[in-house]
Amino acid sequence: VGKIDDVIKRLEKKYTNTKTALKYSNPLELLVATILSAQCTDATVNKVTETLFKKYKTVDDYAMADVQEFEKQIYSTGFYKNKTKSIIGSAKMIRKKFKNKVPDNMEDLLELPGVARKTANVVLGEAFGKSEGIVVDTHVKRVAFRLGLTKNKNPEKIEQDLIKIIPKDKWIGFPFLIIKLGREVCTAKNPQHNKCVLNDICPKK
Ligand code: SF4
Repeated sequence: VGKIDDVIKRLEKKYTNTKTALKYSNPLELLVATILSAQCTDATVNKVTETLFKKYKTVDDYAMADVQEFEKQIYSTGFYKNKTKSIIGSAKMIRKKFKNKVPDNMEDLLELPGVARKTANVVLGEAFGKSEGIVVDTHVKRVAFRLGLTKNKNPEKIEQDLIKIIPKDKWIGFPFLIIKLGREVCTAKNPQHNKCVLNDICPKK
């Protein structure tokens, strides 16, 4: 049994809910929520999407959205200009190229403007139950490094390092465990090592 199995076992025991905290009811909503979640808390995104999803329901609704109006609606999530561009641009491409359906594979998802592997992995794992990769967000990046699971700082390289050591059936759940640990204990500033279930096996890099 390697260290990673021990890490996963301990985290699974401590943190039971390993799903995204983003609220959504279909792949399109999850795609939109995930784009909005960049540099923003899930709670703020959920607040914004509560009204947003009532107004925009279909791919066409997003594709034909008025840019300024849309920007105003999502303003509180930050980076609203880029996020608007990504969401409306993605909807336009989904309409034109993917028969109005959010793609269910990595290659096509990565074609959508503003969609990188992190967003694609969330959508694939959560909405389609497919593990083609591992979500690497700011928490996964920081905690994986501290735990010594990677020596890299670049998210794509970190993902490749994690893919090599994490069993495939944990690819979807693992990042959410790490995100919980990262939010609650292994915070960017002043991580609370003494409250951490990994304290005795973590090199604390
Ligand atoms: S022991 Fe400290 S550095 Fe290691 S995972 Fe826990 S909080 Fe983070």
